[in-house]
Amino acid sequence: MRAGKEKSAGRDKNREFAVIAYGFLAIFLGMIAYLAYFQAARSEAFINNPYNPRLDGFAERIVRGDIKTEDGTLLASTKIAQDGSERRVYPQGRLYAHAVGFADNGKAGLEAAYDFELLRSHTFVLERVVNEIEGKKNQGDTLVTTLDDALQRAAFDALGDRKGAVVVIEPDTGKIRAMVSKPDFDPNTIVTDWDAILASDESDAVLLNRATQGLYPPGSTFKLVTALEYMRERPKNYKSYHYTCTGSITREGYTLHCFGNAVHGEVDLETSLAKSCNSSFANIGLSLNGKDFSETCEELLFNRRLPFDLATSKSRFSLKKDAGESEVMATAIGQGKTLASPLHMALIVCAVQNDGVLMRPYLAERVENSDGGKVERYEPSVCGRFMTEKEAKILRRYMKSVVTEGTASALKDDRYTAAGKTGSAEYGNEKGKSHAWFVGYANAKGSHPLAVSVIVEGGGSGSAVAVPIAKSVFDTYFK
Ligand SMILES: [Zn+2]
Repeated sequence: MRAGKEKSAGRDKNREFAVIAYGFLAIFLGMIAYLAYFQAARSEAFINNPYNPRLDGFAERIVRGDIKTEDGTLLASTKIAQDGSERRVYPQGRLYAHAVGFADNGKAGLEAAYDFELLRSHTFVLERVVNEIEGKKNQGDTLVTTLDDALQRAAFDALGDRKGAVVVIEPDTGKIRAMVSKPDFDPNTIVTDWDAILASDESDAVLLNRATQGLYPPGSTFKLVTALEYMRERPKNYKSYHYTCTGSITREGYTLHCFGNAVHGEVDLETSLAKSCNSSFANIGLSLNGKDFSETCEELLFNRRLPFDLATSKSRFSLKKDAGESEVMATAIGQGKTLASPLHMALIVCAVQNDGVLMRPYLAERVENSDGGKVERYEPSVCGRFMTEKEAKILRRYMKSVVTEGTASALKDDRYTAAGKTGSAEYGNEKGKSHAWFVGYANAKGSHPLAVSVIVEGGGSGSAVAVPIAKSVFDTYFK
């Protein structure tokens, strides 16, 4: 009897438990279905539509995720106060201002480009269910960038207080390892600083990411493109090219001087590039076919959109049929109407380093959930071919001689082999004002090669001003 009662009580307990368990399971399944619907309904196009009033609704359910460097440095995070209010914080301040961007007062940089990923949560499903029941927000996913903290700091410090930009890329993967633009801003105080930023001098253009959106005359760095075109038009006899530089060249009453009034004497194609002889390159330009030259430039993405996640400006090249000799000469040395962004010039040297193949440049390495679990990984991908393997090989040899016996000799180092091209690009109407450029790469056994593009606005000589910035980046990487 007793045993029977106990049995019956046990059955009641079991039934009670079953009711609770099934009840819970029903709620659980309902929550999962709801979450699945919630996730599915939020298509990328939908969330990225700035006119969509429901976007703010998603931010009400998810705490915007973190942004980090590949080596784990925290770049952006959301702090929640006791009253539940949220604040976006940037622990590195100005250091990553343009690459990371901001998420208040509109969005910019990675905050804009990866808005969807940062407002999506792949937190463990049970945790999400509990959060939903308790009315708590879920933690958004983390964006891990390709940026390297040591390289970013090296580029940032080397550029110092000057206006300009530095881009650092791995040519064999397309990973952006550093991206600096100055003048910069503090993303932590972007809301309070907004009016002052907008009121600043037009030439400051603080919010402009000069690395991707700044357009500058490429100056002598463009001689790489002119040399490439000359090789293409004279594949059999470009090696026998020679010219006697007297320090200047005159056509149609227009005289073009070599930088610093240097007289380079007898030069071939390689020494013309190593010594950056303007007169010789103007002479080369006069021999080129304008239409073919334009086609080569478009193959190298002039007048085209660059394949990149952040906002970019199109570089410009134009050489019309009726262009006069003075314009042709100026164009051949990267002056004239030609304009290029530091990122674009970096991509050109990346392709030279990488046997002519351009890898798609990218800043986002992967997306993780808040526990570090994999959500998405972005792999290196081929973007296209800029030149043949042979052309790339010849340009690499020429660029090496710029370091061994030319204008970038400061990059001679036991730890790595560097190659590149300097530039001092005249701008404005005032004679003698020039931007300092360097584009190039370095490699050493056991590490990825590294390409660097540097511009210092109004910096003067590329050799004296831009090369030391590249050196600082190389020294940090190959230490
Ligand atoms: Zn010369």
